[in-house]
Amino acid sequence: MSNDILTIGKYEIKRGTSNTIELDLPNLYNTPTKLPIKVLRGKKDGPTVFVSATIHGDELNGIEIIRRFKKLSILKRLKGTIILVPVINVYGILTLSRYFPDRRDLNRCFPGSTRGSLASRVAKIFFDEIVSKCDFGIDLHTAAIHRSNFPQIRTNLNNKVTLKMAKVFEAPIILHSELLQGSLRALCDEKGIPIILYEAGEALRFDEKSIRIGVNGIVNVLREYNMLPKVFKKSKRIPLITSNSQWIRAVESGVIRTIKALGDTVQEDEVIAYIDEAHSDTTFELKSPFDGVIIGKSEIPLAQEGDAIFHIAKFNDLENAEGKIGYFHEDVIEQSEFDELQDEKTIE
Ligand SMILES: [Zn+2]
Repeated sequence: MSNDILTIGKYEIKRGTSNTIELDLPNLYNTPTKLPIKVLRGKKDGPTVFVSATIHGDELNGIEIIRRFKKLSILKRLKGTIILVPVINVYGILTLSRYFPDRRDLNRCFPGSTRGSLASRVAKIFFDEIVSKCDFGIDLHTAAIHRSNFPQIRTNLNNKVTLKMAKVFEAPIILHSELLQGSLRALCDEKGIPIILYEAGEALRFDEKSIRIGVNGIVNVLREYNMLPKVFKKSKRIPLITSNSQWIRAVESGVIRTIKALGDTVQEDEVIAYIDEAHSDTTFELKSPFDGVIIGKSEIPLAQEGDAIFHIAKFNDLENAEGKIGYFHEDVIEQSEFDELQDEKTIE
C-alpha cells in the first residue's frame, strides 16, 4: 500500500501528484546520463506498480505503449502508484542495440552490484530504486533483432498471481517461461514481486496491433487490482495458455519461402515454409513438429542450416485454439475502446 511519500533517488514524491524525474546513471564517457521516469500517484491508497520497457535497447514497442498509456484520462481515477520507465537501456538505444556499450545484456545482470560492470551497476540502480518498491510489475519486450513475436505474455504459470495477471492482460498467448539466471524476472521471483513480460512485435519496429494489445493489457491489470475502476463485462478475448513451445530450425541453408504467418495454427507435419537452394532446383520442406500456433518467426528470408526460423507453441485442441486466436486476427482492439478510456468521468 502507498506511503504518503515515495522516495526514488533524491526525489520525494507525494500522493496525488504526477512527476517526471531523472535518476543519475553512470556517465556515457563525458556526457551526463539520466534514467527518465514518470511517476503517477493517485490520492487514494493502492498498490505500487512499475511498467518498464526497452531493457533491450532495440525493443521499441514498449516506448509507444507507455506513451499512449500515460495519456489516458482514466488515470485521473488512479488508486496507488504507477512508475513508468519507457527506456531502461538508455545506452543501447543510442546505437539501436539490444546490448550495453560493454556488450552485456542488462537482462542477465540482475541483481547487479555497485562495484560491477556498467550493466551490473545500472541493474542494481533500477532494481533498488524502482522495482524493489513495487508490489508487482509489467516488463515490455519485443522479439530480438530480425524476428517478430505474435503478442504473448511470458511468465511463471505455477505462480497464481502472475498467472492471473497474464490472463487479465488479454494477449492472445500465454507461454510459461523458465527463469533465466540474472534476469529481472528471476530476481523478482526470488524477492516475491510478481512480474509478467509482454513480448510483441519486432525489434526496431512499431507494430500497431502489439501496441494496442499492450496499452489495453496494462489497463486490464490495473483494473484487476482495483487501481483503476473495474468493468463488469465479460471479455471475448481469451488467451491460449501453454507451457510447451519449440523453435523450428532450418534443415538446410538457402532462401526461405514462407507459407504460414504469425498467429496461424499449424498441424503436425504441415509445411510451414520451403527452403530453396539458390543455385539449383532443390527445395526442402520445413514442417511443424506438432499441432500448434506460430508465435514467433525470423524476418530474414535467408537461412543458414540450423537457424531458428519459426517458434511454435503447442496446443492439442487446434479447433479451440483457432477459435480463440481468430478473435485477435479480426479485432485488433478498436480505437473506440481507447476513446472510452478517455471519456470516463473524473470523480476523484
Ligand atoms: Zn527483450
